[in-house]
Amino acid sequence: MATPRYFMLADSASSLPARLRDEDAEHLLRVLRAEEGTTIWGLDGRGTKRLLRVTRARGGRGANSRLPAWSQLALEPAGEDEFVPAWGEPNGPGAWVELACPLPKGSRADDWMDRLVQHGLSGFTDLVLEHSEVAARAPSNARWSRLGRVACEALKQSRSTWLPRFSGPLELADWLASLGSDLGKPGAHAAWLDPGAKLPMKAWLQRLDQGGPARRIWIAAGPEGGFSKAEGQLLEASGFAGVNLGTRILRIETATELALGSVRLLGH
Ligand code: SAH
Repeated sequence: MATPRYFMLADSASSLPARLRDEDAEHLLRVLRAEEGTTIWGLDGRGTKRLLRVTRARGGRGANSRLPAWSQLALEPAGEDEFVPAWGEPNGPGAWVELACPLPKGSRADDWMDRLVQHGLSGFTDLVLEHSEVAARAPSNARWSRLGRVACEALKQSRSTWLPRFSGPLELADWLASLGSDLGKPGAHAAWLDPGAKLPMKAWLQRLDQGGPARRIWIAAGPEGGFSKAEGQLLEASGFAGVNLGTRILRIETATELALGSVRLLGH
């Protein structure tokens, strides 16, 4: 069996004895039924993989279930830390691929994020666009936390090490300004998905192989009402190529997943 993966608490990833997030400690004790000597990978979501050995576990019968799981578990490092460089770095797992689009409605976003992280999403920016629904313009903290938890589960599932960076909500012009000169650097590529664009996805993907390895890729998608004319012009002026994914109109989830999946499928 592959060594199971769990998330360490942020503050324990550096110096303190490693502690797991509550839900991960709970899983390790009560589902995996860890015993003294069980080894696991501790992740910090930022490239570190630490081999950890269980030195004390009280998860079975007789365990005091009123005590939090983490307090019934002690872990010690069982080897040197491994570090996987970030998306976009030389020797990293692949190009930095960031999606920017309005967050889909309600629970649709959870399943979508789960699949995007499995595909290797590096960054997500929640865009506020002219045709965005008003209710979707400022997701609550609870909504972001839920997406963060979904991302953690998908990261473990896909045996990856870097959690995506979430940003926004941002207006299109502010997002573009934040990218600044990165857009013009070698290995940078940017596309906006538009059913009316002349350039097919396949032709744009071929560009990614030209002029050295693709390092940073940005893909923007619109709300149900699509991008406005002015937004399309702004994207074009910023160096984004309009790209179509065929003649069918796709839901935003389908369009973005297809675009990210195609980029990763080609080995970027
Ligand atoms: N009513 C809009 C479509 C909105 S679909 C229109 O006719 O333009 C939501 C978003 O998904 C779009 O803004 C676009 O970014 C993406 N999308 C959906 N289908 C697509 C296709 N066939 N090609 C490219 N992008 C597509």
